[in-house]
Amino acid sequence: MISFYPGPSRVYDQIPAYTKEAHRLGILSMNHRSAEFMTMNKKTISLLKSKLSIPKTYTILFTSSATECWEVIAQSLTRKHSIHIYNGAFGEKWFGYTRRLRPDATSLLFDPETQLDPIKATFSEGEIICLTQNETSNGTQLDQAIIRNIQKNNPNHLIVVDATSSMAGIRLDFKSADVWFASVQKCFGLPAGLAVMVLSPKAMKRMAEINESAHYNSLTLMARMMDRWQTSCTPNVLGIYLLMSVLENVSRITEVHEKTELRFHAWEEFFAGSGKLGLLIQNPRVRSLTVLAIKGNPEQIDKLKAHAKRKGFLLGEGYGPLKKDTFRIANFPALKETEIKSLKSFLSPMR
Ligand SMILES: *Cc1c(COP(=O)(O)O)cnc(C)c1O
Repeated sequence: MISFYPGPSRVYDQIPAYTKEAHRLGILSMNHRSAEFMTMNKKTISLLKSKLSIPKTYTILFTSSATECWEVIAQSLTRKHSIHIYNGAFGEKWFGYTRRLRPDATSLLFDPETQLDPIKATFSEGEIICLTQNETSNGTQLDQAIIRNIQKNNPNHLIVVDATSSMAGIRLDFKSADVWFASVQKCFGLPAGLAVMVLSPKAMKRMAEINESAHYNSLTLMARMMDRWQTSCTPNVLGIYLLMSVLENVSRITEVHEKTELRFHAWEEFFAGSGKLGLLIQNPRVRSLTVLAIKGNPEQIDKLKAHAKRKGFLLGEGYGPLKKDTFRIANFPALKETEIKSLKSFLSPMR
């Protein structure tokens, strides 16, 4: 089965070999207070910075999921009022989780077909602005120039970005925001259970001012431990090892980005020639490069998904309110050219 699911998704072919190697090297039983772990942790952080072009001055921490990052941001970087700007189900979910911890959180919705107007996202109230760079549910993305403008227009706010389904798949301008996070079961091509959180010096300063320390995953504690290349609880050591091994072998993000973009445009063209199926999002300027949402009539989509499964292709279900009349295709780096080609030849007669 080839998984085109946009998370959890196809993992790199080398994962079984790396896992075996991890066992042979004793990584599976490695003590997370040992010098060996600290060395591995340090190396993984350094690879993340170099391969993804993350500024040297930024701090990187590990959590177990993007959902955990949502909570950590609410608990440790938000005193009262965060502002959530979104156009789809993941942004909405984030807002929902935050409201349980910080009931004063507010939201600003925008239409998936239109670019977010940064002027409308200028605030005198609030302290932290939460954006979803890539909305995995509807296949849209937030242009990075817009994120940059939001940062410029709101100099007193922290800008926080969920990049779960785009980090490691496209080039991100890390300087344009204060917190970025992603779990690894999407563009990183790894099994689930680990997430990466990237923080600017400004975010670290805010963290210290708020100084929240009531939880095992309080940012202050995680950051203090990471100063010594350690973690506040026993982390996903295998996950970190696999991340390190994958990063050692992937190209730099600029090259990965080019490939992602080329593949995306080829998909776009493929569906432009279709009578029955088409991209859900009409406006090419807001389409995600890493997740495609395809629209069709519900009956046809049902049949198509079942037929695909019999042929060995796992397609992504439509998400939330889009469940019935869409399906999704991941355009993640771990997918192979030959796999994309065979999915296209499967879909061709059904277009
Ligand atoms: C998948 C996804 C999440 C949730 O990730 P978990 O690792 O399951 O917590 C959050 N945000 C976006 C945009 C996602 O695509």
